[in-house]
Amino acid sequence: MSENNEGIIVILSSPSGAGKTTLVKEISKRNNFQISISHTTRKPRSNETEGKDYYFISETEFENLIHEDKFLEYAKVFQNYYGSTKDVVFKKLNNGENVIFDIDWQGTQQIKRQKLNYKIVTIFILPPSRDELYKRLLNRDKNDEKLAKERMTQFNEDVLHWRDYNFVVINDNLGNCYKKIMKFIETGDDKIEPNYQKLISLHVESLLN
Ligand code: ADP
Ligand code: 5GP
Repeated sequence: MSENNEGIIVILSSPSGAGKTTLVKEISKRNNFQISISHTTRKPRSNETEGKDYYFISETEFENLIHEDKFLEYAKVFQNYYGSTKDVVFKKLNNGENVIFDIDWQGTQQIKRQKLNYKIVTIFILPPSRDELYKRLLNRDKNDEKLAKERMTQFNEDVLHWRDYNFVVINDNLGNCYKKIMKFIETGDDKIEPNYQKLISLHVESLLN
């Protein structure tokens, strides 16, 4: 996948609830991809495990990591800090392992700006519709309507960043979406259907209305 013996970086971003965490786990399970485990100041969800889903830390601990220049990127999302630390990521890449990130558009911009000597593939996930997105958020967050609504408020701003990514895909059927992503990572071919850019652009318009 890379021209040399180093691994590649793959980044998945999306508005909250579109399915990137699910896809990142699936990609890592079925392929030679190591997930970059982020640090966050968010509280763990009931099904999340320390060191597997995130490293859950306090704001003070997060600020210390910032001052010690440990982060490859970090951002504040939904009132919480999230960041990817450099050391493990670079060690894996230099060891020939591919590293996959589930991070937002701010973190993606920061990684791209650094002009690292690794191949970077960026992928943006869209939901099939706003209604389906809301349902997925409710389902994941145990019918916490307040939380789901709060996440939806960020949708219009987040979705506009789709143009900054190498590949954009609609996560309707999970299996199909997975296949399209893997094909793009392996071949770089984004011509999944004729007029693909136009279709995505129209789909985003429909999501904003
Ligand atoms: P994100 O990481 O983008 O916030 P998640 O991966 O946590 O989103 O997915 C949000 C919810 O939607 C989860 O409950 C997940 O199981 C579900 N989900 C993901 N993809 C699909 C899909 N294609 N069809 C139906 N439900 C899905
Ligand atoms: P969640 O709280 O749903 O796990 O994640 C909220 C948002 O934070 C998602 O868009 C997710 O991609 C993003 N995120 C998770 N980890 C990181 C990280 O390390 N850096 C950045 N910039 N965003 C992250």
